[in-house]
Amino acid sequence: MRKLIKGLHQFQCNYFSSHRELFERLSEGQHPRILFITCCDSRIDPNLITQTQPGELFIIRNPGNIIPPYGATKGGEGAAIEYAIEALSIKQIVVCGHSHCGAIEGLLAGNLKEQMPLVYDWLKYAEATRRIIKENYPNIEGENLLNLAIEENVLVQIENLRSYPSVAAKLYSGQLNIYAWVYKIETGGVVVYSAERCPIQVKHEEEDFEEWQAISPGEPVMSWD
Ligand SMILES: [Zn+2]
Repeated sequence: MRKLIKGLHQFQCNYFSSHRELFERLSEGQHPRILFITCCDSRIDPNLITQTQPGELFIIRNPGNIIPPYGATKGGEGAAIEYAIEALSIKQIVVCGHSHCGAIEGLLAGNLKEQMPLVYDWLKYAEATRRIIKENYPNIEGENLLNLAIEENVLVQIENLRSYPSVAAKLYSGQLNIYAWVYKIETGGVVVYSAERCPIQVKHEEEDFEEWQAISPGEPVMSWD
């Protein structure tokens, strides 16, 4: 806790005082242009990896970057999605999985019911991921299997995202884009996948990512339109 208090002090003395104008503007309202959905894993920092400032990303985080299908629950995810699209007029959504995801590891292991019944129940919204991997990749195991499941889960959750009426309507009229990302903790890189359904197609390998960034050098990610 001492570290956090020290950090608060440093934030106020350094970052806040040198960005006073930004925070004054933010106090009048928020206009984020990206809805960023990712895992609550402590090793991911959406603002850090995209080099964005407060006010630029509207963020939903939970174990496994899961989006329960529309109507499956009255949870915060649906409310945040609806708010992002209807109230904030967000037109870009990123669903970002990550390497070494403990939630997806738990999903594949399937042994959480006794010790973590709430996590076990939550992961049911990723059951399609487990089933797709189990039935289609019988010869793959270990870390390769986990990586496949992490990638596949991003696509499964994007399918769930499409079940929201506000998302479906905006996709239909071409006013919304959805992106499938996987962040690699060990390299700091992001692999961008086609958000379309199976088979998994790597759209940009990590080497291409630099090229893809080079399209708009110096532009932050949210400049995509
Ligand atoms: Zn995770």
